[in-house]
Amino acid sequence: METIDTLVIGAGQAGVAMSEHLSRQGVPHLVLERHRIAERWRTERWDSLVANGPAWHDRFPGLEFDDISPDGFAPKERVAAYFEAYARKFNAPIRTGVEVTQVVRNHGKPGFTVNTSAGVIEAQRVVVATGPFQRPVIPPVVPQDAAVLQLHSAQYRNPAQLPPGAVLVVGSGSSGVQIADELQRAGRQVYLSVGPHDRPPRGYRGRDFCWWLGVLGEWDAPAMKPGAEHVTIAVSGARGGETIDFRRLAHQGMVLVGMTQSFADGVIRFQPDLARNIARGDANYLALLDAADAYAARNGLDLPPEPAARQVLADPACLTEPLAELDLTAAGVTAIVWATGFTTDYSWLQVNALDDKGKPRHHRGVSSEPGIYFVGLPWLSRRGSSFIWGVWHDASYVADHIAIQRQYFAQGDPGRRQQADFHHPVAEAAIQN
Ligand SMILES: Cc1cc2nc3c(=O)[nH]c(=O)nc-3n(C[C@H](O)[C@H](O)[C@H](O)COP(=O)(O)OP(=O)(O)OC[C@H]3O[C@@H](n4cnc5c(N)ncnc54)[C@H](O)[C@@H]3O)c2cc1C
Repeated sequence: METIDTLVIGAGQAGVAMSEHLSRQGVPHLVLERHRIAERWRTERWDSLVANGPAWHDRFPGLEFDDISPDGFAPKERVAAYFEAYARKFNAPIRTGVEVTQVVRNHGKPGFTVNTSAGVIEAQRVVVATGPFQRPVIPPVVPQDAAVLQLHSAQYRNPAQLPPGAVLVVGSGSSGVQIADELQRAGRQVYLSVGPHDRPPRGYRGRDFCWWLGVLGEWDAPAMKPGAEHVTIAVSGARGGETIDFRRLAHQGMVLVGMTQSFADGVIRFQPDLARNIARGDANYLALLDAADAYAARNGLDLPPEPAARQVLADPACLTEPLAELDLTAAGVTAIVWATGFTTDYSWLQVNALDDKGKPRHHRGVSSEPGIYFVGLPWLSRRGSSFIWGVWHDASYVADHIAIQRQYFAQGDPGRRQQADFHHPVAEAAIQN
Protein backbone atom coordinates (compact mmCIF):
# COMPACT_ATOMS: atom_id res chain seq x y z
CA MET A 1 0.00 0.00 0.00
CA GLU A 2 1.30 3.46 -0.90
CA THR A 3 1.79 5.79 2.06
CA ILE A 4 2.06 9.56 2.06
CA ASP A 5 2.17 12.23 4.72
CA THR A 6 -0.44 14.55 3.21
CA LEU A 7 -2.85 13.77 0.41
CA VAL A 8 -4.55 16.60 -1.46
CA ILE A 9 -7.71 15.68 -3.39
CA GLY A 10 -8.38 17.81 -6.47
CA ALA A 11 -6.03 19.82 -8.69
CA GLY A 12 -8.00 22.94 -9.43
CA GLN A 13 -6.61 26.23 -8.20
CA ALA A 14 -7.13 25.14 -4.58
CA GLY A 15 -5.12 21.92 -4.98
CA VAL A 16 -2.32 23.69 -6.85
CA ALA A 17 -2.10 26.43 -4.19
CA MET A 18 -2.11 23.81 -1.47
CA SER A 19 0.72 21.93 -3.13
CA GLU A 20 2.82 25.07 -3.42
CA HIS A 21 2.45 25.90 0.27
CA LEU A 22 3.06 22.31 1.38
CA SER A 23 6.19 22.25 -0.77
CA ARG A 24 7.41 25.45 0.87
CA GLN A 25 6.87 23.90 4.28
CA GLY A 26 8.71 20.74 3.22
CA VAL A 27 5.63 18.56 3.77
CA PRO A 28 5.77 15.36 1.68
CA HIS A 29 2.52 15.23 -0.24
CA LEU A 30 0.67 14.02 -3.30
CA VAL A 31 -2.20 15.63 -5.21
CA LEU A 32 -4.76 13.33 -6.86
CA GLU A 33 -6.95 14.71 -9.67
CA ARG A 34 -9.57 12.58 -11.36
CA HIS A 35 -9.33 14.37 -14.71
CA ARG A 36 -6.79 17.07 -15.63
CA ILE A 37 -5.42 20.09 -13.79
CA ALA A 38 -8.10 22.84 -13.61
CA GLU A 39 -10.57 20.56 -15.40
CA ARG A 40 -13.63 22.60 -14.52
CA TRP A 41 -12.26 25.60 -16.41
CA ARG A 42 -11.90 23.35 -19.49
CA THR A 43 -15.04 21.26 -19.71
CA GLU A 44 -17.58 22.52 -17.20
CA ARG A 45 -17.94 26.11 -18.39
CA TRP A 46 -19.26 27.75 -21.53
CA ASP A 47 -17.04 28.40 -24.55
CA SER A 48 -16.83 32.18 -24.42
CA LEU A 49 -16.25 32.50 -20.66
CA VAL A 50 -13.45 34.79 -19.59
CA ALA A 51 -12.31 35.45 -16.02
CA ASN A 52 -14.55 37.82 -14.12
CA GLY A 53 -11.58 39.65 -12.67
CA PRO A 54 -8.71 41.35 -14.52
CA ALA A 55 -5.45 39.50 -15.10
CA TRP A 56 -3.56 41.58 -12.50
CA HIS A 57 -6.04 40.40 -9.87
CA ASP A 58 -7.27 36.90 -10.76
CA ARG A 59 -3.96 35.11 -10.36
CA PHE A 60 -1.56 33.72 -7.78
CA PRO A 61 1.27 35.94 -6.50
CA GLY A 62 4.03 33.84 -8.09
CA LEU A 63 3.11 34.13 -11.78
CA GLU A 64 1.65 36.74 -14.09
CA PHE A 65 -0.34 36.22 -17.29
CA ASP A 66 2.51 37.29 -19.56
CA ASP A 67 0.37 37.33 -22.74
CA ILE A 68 -2.59 39.28 -21.35
CA SER A 69 -2.52 42.93 -20.37
CA PRO A 70 -2.96 43.43 -16.61
CA ASP A 71 -6.39 44.98 -17.20
CA GLY A 72 -7.46 42.25 -19.65
CA PHE A 73 -9.58 39.19 -18.86
CA ALA A 74 -8.15 35.71 -19.42
CA PRO A 75 -10.24 33.29 -21.51
CA LYS A 76 -11.16 30.12 -19.62
CA GLU A 77 -8.68 27.89 -21.52
CA ARG A 78 -5.97 30.38 -20.67
CA VAL A 79 -6.92 30.19 -17.00
CA ALA A 80 -6.59 26.39 -17.12
CA ALA A 81 -3.21 26.68 -18.88
CA TYR A 82 -2.14 29.18 -16.22
CA PHE A 83 -2.70 26.68 -13.42
CA GLU A 84 -0.95 23.96 -15.38
CA ALA A 85 2.06 26.23 -15.88
CA TYR A 86 1.95 27.24 -12.23
CA ALA A 87 2.04 23.61 -11.11
CA ARG A 88 5.00 22.97 -13.44
CA LYS A 89 6.84 25.95 -11.99
CA PHE A 90 7.44 24.21 -8.67
CA ASN A 91 7.13 20.65 -9.96
CA ALA A 92 3.91 19.96 -8.07
CA PRO A 93 3.48 16.24 -7.33
CA ILE A 94 0.13 15.94 -9.11
CA ARG A 95 -1.17 12.58 -10.34
CA THR A 96 -3.99 13.05 -12.84
CA GLY A 97 -6.65 10.57 -13.91
CA VAL A 98 -7.06 9.16 -10.39
CA GLU A 99 -10.37 9.54 -8.57
CA VAL A 100 -10.71 9.30 -4.82
CA THR A 101 -13.75 7.16 -4.02
CA GLN A 102 -13.58 6.89 -0.23
CA VAL A 103 -11.73 8.34 2.74
CA VAL A 104 -12.08 6.65 6.16
CA ARG A 105 -10.28 7.22 9.46
CA ASN A 106 -7.99 4.42 10.60
CA HIS A 107 -8.73 2.70 13.88
CA GLY A 108 -5.93 1.92 16.31
CA LYS A 109 -3.41 3.98 14.32
CA PRO A 110 -3.27 7.56 13.07
CA GLY A 111 -4.27 8.66 9.61
CA PHE A 112 -6.72 7.72 6.91
CA THR A 113 -7.25 4.97 4.38
CA VAL A 114 -8.00 6.42 0.99
CA ASN A 115 -9.56 4.29 -1.75
CA THR A 116 -8.92 5.50 -5.26
CA SER A 117 -9.56 4.33 -8.79
CA ALA A 118 -5.88 3.28 -8.85
CA GLY A 119 -5.50 1.53 -5.50
CA VAL A 120 -5.35 2.27 -1.79
CA ILE A 121 -3.28 5.01 -0.17
CA GLU A 122 -2.57 5.58 3.53
CA ALA A 123 -2.30 9.26 4.42
CA GLN A 124 -1.65 10.97 7.73
CA ARG A 125 -3.61 13.99 6.58
CA VAL A 126 -6.09 14.71 3.82
CA VAL A 127 -6.83 18.09 2.26
CA VAL A 128 -10.14 18.22 0.40
CA ALA A 129 -9.80 20.60 -2.57
CA THR A 130 -12.64 19.26 -4.68
CA GLY A 131 -14.19 22.63 -5.40
CA PRO A 132 -16.85 25.03 -4.18
CA PHE A 133 -19.09 24.39 -7.18
CA GLN A 134 -19.31 20.64 -7.70
CA ARG A 135 -22.79 19.45 -8.53
CA PRO A 136 -25.17 21.58 -10.65
CA VAL A 137 -28.48 22.35 -8.94
CA ILE A 138 -31.70 22.62 -10.95
CA PRO A 139 -34.69 23.44 -8.75
CA PRO A 140 -37.53 20.95 -9.30
CA VAL A 141 -39.90 23.38 -11.03
CA VAL A 142 -40.34 22.09 -14.58
CA PRO A 143 -40.68 18.30 -15.05
CA GLN A 144 -37.94 16.71 -17.12
CA ASP A 145 -40.50 15.43 -19.64
CA ALA A 146 -41.90 18.93 -20.37
CA ALA A 147 -41.64 19.89 -24.04
CA VAL A 148 -38.67 22.18 -23.53
CA LEU A 149 -34.91 21.54 -23.40
CA GLN A 150 -33.55 22.13 -19.90
CA LEU A 151 -29.89 22.43 -19.08
CA HIS A 152 -27.74 23.84 -16.31
CA SER A 153 -25.25 26.66 -16.90
CA ALA A 154 -22.49 24.06 -16.33
CA GLN A 155 -23.79 22.21 -19.43
CA TYR A 156 -24.38 25.30 -21.58
CA ARG A 157 -21.66 25.83 -24.22
CA ASN A 158 -22.90 28.31 -26.85
CA PRO A 159 -26.11 29.55 -28.54
CA ALA A 160 -25.87 27.02 -31.39
CA GLN A 161 -26.28 24.21 -28.87
CA LEU A 162 -29.89 25.26 -28.23
CA PRO A 163 -32.81 24.54 -30.58
CA PRO A 164 -34.09 27.56 -32.53
CA GLY A 165 -36.48 29.71 -30.50
CA ALA A 166 -36.69 31.86 -27.43
CA VAL A 167 -34.85 30.98 -24.21
CA LEU A 168 -35.66 31.42 -20.55
CA VAL A 169 -32.51 31.93 -18.46
CA VAL A 170 -33.08 31.47 -14.75
CA GLY A 171 -30.62 33.19 -12.43
CA SER A 172 -29.07 36.64 -12.37
CA GLY A 173 -25.60 35.90 -11.04
CA SER A 174 -22.56 36.24 -13.29
CA SER A 175 -23.35 33.02 -15.18
CA GLY A 176 -27.02 33.72 -15.86
CA VAL A 177 -26.48 37.30 -16.94
CA GLN A 178 -23.53 36.51 -19.20
CA ILE A 179 -25.33 33.59 -20.85
CA ALA A 180 -28.51 35.64 -21.33
CA ASP A 181 -26.50 38.46 -22.90
CA GLU A 182 -24.70 36.05 -25.24
CA LEU A 183 -28.00 34.48 -26.35
CA GLN A 184 -29.55 37.88 -26.98
CA ARG A 185 -26.52 38.96 -29.04
CA ALA A 186 -26.98 35.76 -31.07
CA GLY A 187 -30.46 36.96 -32.00
CA ARG A 188 -32.52 34.98 -29.50
CA GLN A 189 -35.51 36.36 -27.65
CA VAL A 190 -34.41 36.00 -24.04
CA TYR A 191 -36.43 36.00 -20.82
CA LEU A 192 -34.22 36.49 -17.78
CA SER A 193 -35.51 35.47 -14.36
CA VAL A 194 -33.89 37.87 -11.89
CA GLY A 195 -33.39 37.07 -8.21
CA PRO A 196 -31.62 38.97 -5.42
CA HIS A 197 -28.17 40.03 -6.58
CA ASP A 198 -25.26 42.33 -5.89
CA ARG A 199 -24.19 44.40 -8.86
CA PRO A 200 -20.87 46.20 -8.45
CA PRO A 201 -19.81 48.55 -11.24
CA ARG A 202 -17.18 46.97 -13.49
CA GLY A 203 -15.05 49.98 -12.79
CA TYR A 204 -15.40 53.37 -11.15
CA ARG A 205 -13.20 56.44 -11.32
CA GLY A 206 -10.58 54.54 -13.28
CA ARG A 207 -10.31 51.55 -10.97
CA ASP A 208 -11.77 48.05 -11.42
CA PHE A 209 -14.27 46.90 -8.81
CA CYS A 210 -11.80 44.18 -7.73
CA TRP A 211 -9.49 47.00 -6.67
CA TRP A 212 -12.26 48.83 -4.84
CA LEU A 213 -13.35 45.67 -3.00
CA GLY A 214 -9.73 45.16 -2.00
CA VAL A 215 -8.98 48.64 -0.64
CA LEU A 216 -12.39 48.86 1.02
CA GLY A 217 -11.72 45.58 2.83
CA GLU A 218 -14.74 43.88 1.24
CA TRP A 219 -12.84 40.83 0.00
CA ASP A 220 -11.74 40.27 3.60
CA ALA A 221 -15.26 40.32 5.07
CA PRO A 222 -15.29 37.26 7.35
CA ALA A 223 -18.93 36.28 6.80
CA MET A 224 -21.98 37.05 4.71
CA LYS A 225 -24.16 39.86 5.95
CA PRO A 226 -27.30 38.43 7.60
CA GLY A 227 -30.04 38.09 5.00
CA ALA A 228 -27.57 37.97 2.10
CA GLU A 229 -27.23 34.17 2.04
CA HIS A 230 -28.99 33.79 -1.31
CA VAL A 231 -27.59 36.85 -3.02
CA THR A 232 -25.43 36.26 -6.07
CA ILE A 233 -23.02 38.70 -7.68
CA ALA A 234 -23.54 39.87 -11.25
CA VAL A 235 -20.28 40.85 -12.94
CA SER A 236 -18.71 40.21 -16.32
CA GLY A 237 -15.30 40.33 -17.94
CA ALA A 238 -16.82 39.71 -21.39
CA ARG A 239 -15.86 42.08 -24.23
CA GLY A 240 -13.15 43.70 -22.12
CA GLY A 241 -15.37 43.96 -19.04
CA GLU A 242 -18.62 45.86 -18.57
CA THR A 243 -21.04 46.74 -15.79
CA ILE A 244 -24.11 44.54 -15.65
CA ASP A 245 -27.08 46.82 -16.24
CA PHE A 246 -30.40 44.99 -16.32
CA ARG A 247 -32.21 48.04 -17.70
CA ARG A 248 -29.79 48.23 -20.64
CA LEU A 249 -30.35 44.57 -21.40
CA ALA A 250 -34.12 45.13 -21.28
CA HIS A 251 -33.90 48.15 -23.59
CA GLN A 252 -32.03 45.89 -26.02
CA GLY A 253 -34.97 43.48 -26.05
CA MET A 254 -34.47 41.14 -23.11
CA VAL A 255 -37.57 40.53 -21.02
CA LEU A 256 -36.81 40.62 -17.30
CA VAL A 257 -39.07 38.56 -15.05
CA GLY A 258 -39.17 37.83 -11.31
CA MET A 259 -37.92 34.64 -9.71
CA THR A 260 -39.23 31.46 -11.30
CA GLN A 261 -41.83 29.99 -9.01
CA SER A 262 -43.89 27.18 -10.49
CA PHE A 263 -44.95 25.41 -13.66
CA ALA A 264 -48.28 23.95 -14.72
CA ASP A 265 -49.82 23.12 -18.12
CA GLY A 266 -46.94 24.64 -20.06
CA VAL A 267 -47.11 27.93 -18.15
CA ILE A 268 -44.34 29.22 -15.87
CA ARG A 269 -45.31 31.57 -13.05
CA PHE A 270 -42.93 34.18 -11.64
CA GLN A 271 -42.78 35.75 -8.21
CA PRO A 272 -43.84 39.41 -7.95
CA ASP A 273 -40.33 40.38 -6.82
CA LEU A 274 -38.67 41.78 -9.95
CA ALA A 275 -38.81 45.46 -8.95
CA ARG A 276 -37.57 44.63 -5.46
CA ASN A 277 -34.64 42.58 -6.79
CA ILE A 278 -33.62 45.26 -9.29
CA ALA A 279 -33.89 47.96 -6.59
CA ARG A 280 -31.75 45.92 -4.27
CA GLY A 281 -29.08 45.50 -6.96
CA ASP A 282 -29.20 49.26 -7.65
CA ALA A 283 -28.74 50.00 -3.95
CA ASN A 284 -25.74 47.69 -3.82
CA TYR A 285 -24.27 49.39 -6.90
CA LEU A 286 -24.75 52.89 -5.48
CA ALA A 287 -23.41 51.87 -2.06
CA LEU A 288 -20.12 50.87 -3.67
CA LEU A 289 -19.90 54.20 -5.52
CA ASP A 290 -20.54 56.02 -2.22
CA ALA A 291 -17.94 53.96 -0.37
CA ALA A 292 -15.44 54.52 -3.19
CA ASP A 293 -16.03 58.29 -3.19
CA ALA A 294 -15.64 58.43 0.58
CA TYR A 295 -12.41 56.39 0.40
CA ALA A 296 -11.00 58.62 -2.36
CA ALA A 297 -11.86 61.80 -0.40
CA ARG A 298 -10.46 60.47 2.88
CA ASN A 299 -7.19 59.47 1.27
CA GLY A 300 -6.89 62.45 -1.05
CA LEU A 301 -6.79 60.19 -4.14
CA ASP A 302 -6.58 62.04 -7.41
CA LEU A 303 -9.07 59.89 -9.32
CA PRO A 304 -11.19 61.35 -12.15
CA PRO A 305 -14.79 61.98 -10.97
CA GLU A 306 -17.39 59.90 -12.81
CA PRO A 307 -20.86 61.41 -12.29
CA ALA A 308 -22.21 59.48 -15.32
CA ALA A 309 -21.91 56.29 -13.27
CA ARG A 310 -24.88 57.49 -11.19
CA GLN A 311 -27.18 57.98 -14.15
CA VAL A 312 -29.89 55.33 -14.31
CA LEU A 313 -31.67 54.38 -17.54
CA ALA A 314 -35.46 54.70 -17.65
CA ASP A 315 -37.36 51.72 -16.29
CA PRO A 316 -38.29 49.40 -19.18
CA ALA A 317 -41.89 48.19 -19.53
CA CYS A 318 -40.99 44.70 -18.33
CA LEU A 319 -39.95 46.26 -15.03
CA THR A 320 -42.94 48.56 -14.54
CA GLU A 321 -45.49 45.94 -15.67
CA PRO A 322 -43.75 42.63 -15.01
CA LEU A 323 -45.02 39.38 -16.45
CA ALA A 324 -46.71 37.19 -13.85
CA GLU A 325 -46.55 34.15 -16.10
CA LEU A 326 -45.24 32.89 -19.41
CA ASP A 327 -46.89 30.34 -21.68
CA LEU A 328 -43.79 28.65 -23.05
CA THR A 329 -45.34 27.44 -26.30
CA ALA A 330 -47.08 30.73 -27.05
CA ALA A 331 -43.83 32.63 -26.38
CA GLY A 332 -41.83 30.20 -28.53
CA VAL A 333 -39.56 29.21 -25.63
CA THR A 334 -37.73 26.03 -26.60
CA ALA A 335 -35.02 25.97 -23.92
CA ILE A 336 -34.47 26.85 -20.28
CA VAL A 337 -30.95 27.49 -19.00
CA TRP A 338 -30.83 27.10 -15.23
CA ALA A 339 -28.00 29.28 -13.87
CA THR A 340 -29.06 28.34 -10.39
CA GLY A 341 -25.82 27.38 -8.76
CA PHE A 342 -24.16 24.29 -7.39
CA THR A 343 -23.97 22.11 -4.33
CA THR A 344 -21.28 19.85 -2.89
CA ASP A 345 -21.11 16.10 -2.55
CA TYR A 346 -18.96 14.59 0.19
CA SER A 347 -20.62 11.17 0.30
CA TRP A 348 -17.16 9.64 -0.26
CA LEU A 349 -15.69 11.46 2.74
CA GLN A 350 -16.61 9.22 5.65
CA VAL A 351 -15.07 11.13 8.54
CA ASN A 352 -16.30 13.30 11.36
CA ALA A 353 -15.84 16.56 9.49
CA LEU A 354 -19.38 17.12 8.20
CA ASP A 355 -22.49 18.40 9.92
CA ASP A 356 -25.86 16.67 9.71
CA LYS A 357 -26.59 18.46 6.41
CA GLY A 358 -23.34 17.12 4.94
CA LYS A 359 -21.61 20.53 5.05
CA PRO A 360 -17.97 20.79 6.15
CA ARG A 361 -17.52 21.66 9.82
CA HIS A 362 -14.32 23.68 10.02
CA HIS A 363 -12.55 26.82 11.09
CA ARG A 364 -10.51 28.41 8.28
CA GLY A 365 -10.31 24.99 6.65
CA VAL A 366 -9.19 23.07 9.74
CA SER A 367 -12.00 20.59 10.25
CA SER A 368 -13.55 19.01 13.31
CA GLU A 369 -11.83 15.71 12.37
CA PRO A 370 -8.13 16.09 13.20
CA GLY A 371 -6.12 15.58 10.02
CA ILE A 372 -8.92 16.53 7.60
CA TYR A 373 -8.74 19.94 5.94
CA PHE A 374 -10.77 21.88 3.36
CA VAL A 375 -9.62 24.59 0.94
CA GLY A 376 -11.50 26.50 -1.75
CA LEU A 377 -14.90 26.67 -0.05
CA PRO A 378 -16.92 29.88 -0.26
CA TRP A 379 -16.30 31.97 2.86
CA LEU A 380 -13.70 29.51 4.16
CA SER A 381 -12.05 32.43 5.91
CA ARG A 382 -13.39 35.46 4.02
CA ARG A 383 -15.34 36.62 1.01
CA GLY A 384 -12.39 36.05 -1.30
CA SER A 385 -11.92 32.39 -0.29
CA SER A 386 -13.43 30.70 -3.35
CA PHE A 387 -11.78 33.11 -5.78
CA ILE A 388 -8.40 32.62 -7.40
CA TRP A 389 -6.42 35.04 -5.29
CA GLY A 390 -8.22 34.16 -2.05
CA VAL A 391 -7.66 30.42 -2.07
CA TRP A 392 -3.90 30.94 -2.28
CA HIS A 393 -3.90 32.73 1.08
CA ASP A 394 -6.24 30.21 2.71
CA ALA A 395 -3.99 27.37 1.51
CA SER A 396 -1.06 29.07 3.20
CA TYR A 397 -2.88 29.00 6.55
CA VAL A 398 -3.83 25.34 6.15
CA ALA A 399 -0.26 24.37 5.19
CA ASP A 400 1.00 26.19 8.30
CA HIS A 401 -1.41 24.22 10.41
CA ILE A 402 -0.24 20.96 8.88
CA ALA A 403 3.42 21.87 9.41
CA ILE A 404 2.77 22.69 13.07
CA GLN A 405 0.90 19.41 13.61
CA ARG A 406 3.81 17.50 12.09
CA GLN A 407 6.09 19.17 14.61
CA TYR A 408 3.91 17.98 17.47
CA PHE A 409 3.92 14.46 16.06
CA ALA A 410 7.69 14.51 15.70
CA GLN A 411 8.08 15.68 19.30
CA GLY A 412 5.97 12.74 20.45
CA ASP A 413 8.19 10.26 18.63
CA PRO A 414 11.35 9.53 20.70
CA GLY A 415 13.24 8.31 17.60
CA ARG A 416 12.76 11.55 15.71
CA ARG A 417 12.72 13.98 18.58
CA GLN A 418 16.32 15.16 18.45
CA GLN A 419 16.27 15.93 14.74
CA ALA A 420 12.94 17.67 15.00
CA ASP A 421 13.61 20.87 16.86
CA PHE A 422 10.18 22.18 17.57
CA HIS A 423 9.58 25.39 15.74
CA HIS A 424 6.55 27.38 14.75
CA PRO A 425 6.54 28.01 10.99
CA VAL A 426 4.24 31.04 11.17
CA ALA A 427 6.32 32.74 13.84
CA GLU A 428 9.54 31.94 11.96
CA ALA A 429 8.21 33.37 8.73
CA ALA A 430 7.26 36.54 10.61
CA ILE A 431 10.76 36.80 12.13
CA GLN A 432 12.41 36.30 8.72
CA ASN A 433 10.25 39.05 7.22
C1 LIG B 1 -18.72 30.00 -14.21
C2 LIG B 1 -17.70 30.32 -13.17
C3 LIG B 1 -16.81 31.34 -13.40
C4 LIG B 1 -15.84 31.68 -12.42
N1 LIG B 1 -14.99 32.70 -12.69
C5 LIG B 1 -14.10 33.07 -11.74
C6 LIG B 1 -13.19 34.13 -11.99
O1 LIG B 1 -13.21 34.74 -13.03
N2 LIG B 1 -12.29 34.47 -11.02
C7 LIG B 1 -12.25 33.79 -9.84
O2 LIG B 1 -11.40 34.13 -9.00
N3 LIG B 1 -13.08 32.77 -9.58
C8 LIG B 1 -14.00 32.40 -10.51
N4 LIG B 1 -14.86 31.36 -10.24
C9 LIG B 1 -14.81 30.73 -8.90
C10 LIG B 1 -13.63 29.74 -8.71
O3 LIG B 1 -12.44 30.37 -9.04
C11 LIG B 1 -13.81 28.49 -9.53
O4 LIG B 1 -15.00 27.86 -9.16
C12 LIG B 1 -12.65 27.48 -9.37
O5 LIG B 1 -12.82 26.47 -10.34
C13 LIG B 1 -12.56 26.85 -8.00
O6 LIG B 1 -11.34 26.15 -7.90
P1 LIG B 1 -11.12 24.93 -6.90
O7 LIG B 1 -9.77 24.41 -7.12
O8 LIG B 1 -11.51 25.31 -5.53
O9 LIG B 1 -12.21 23.87 -7.40
P2 LIG B 1 -12.38 23.16 -8.82
O10 LIG B 1 -11.93 24.01 -9.93
O11 LIG B 1 -13.77 22.67 -8.82
O12 LIG B 1 -11.34 21.96 -8.72
C14 LIG B 1 -11.60 20.79 -8.00
C15 LIG B 1 -10.94 19.64 -8.71
O13 LIG B 1 -11.14 18.47 -7.94
C16 LIG B 1 -11.33 17.37 -8.81
N5 LIG B 1 -12.04 16.36 -8.03
C17 LIG B 1 -13.28 16.45 -7.50
N6 LIG B 1 -13.59 15.33 -6.82
C18 LIG B 1 -12.52 14.51 -6.92
C19 LIG B 1 -12.25 13.20 -6.43
N7 LIG B 1 -13.14 12.52 -5.69
N8 LIG B 1 -11.05 12.65 -6.73
C20 LIG B 1 -10.13 13.34 -7.46
N9 LIG B 1 -10.35 14.56 -7.95
C21 LIG B 1 -11.53 15.16 -7.68
C22 LIG B 1 -12.13 17.96 -9.96
O14 LIG B 1 -11.96 17.20 -11.13
C23 LIG B 1 -11.53 19.37 -10.09
O15 LIG B 1 -10.51 19.43 -11.05
C24 LIG B 1 -15.81 30.97 -11.20
C25 LIG B 1 -16.70 29.92 -10.98
C26 LIG B 1 -17.65 29.60 -11.96
C27 LIG B 1 -18.62 28.46 -11.69
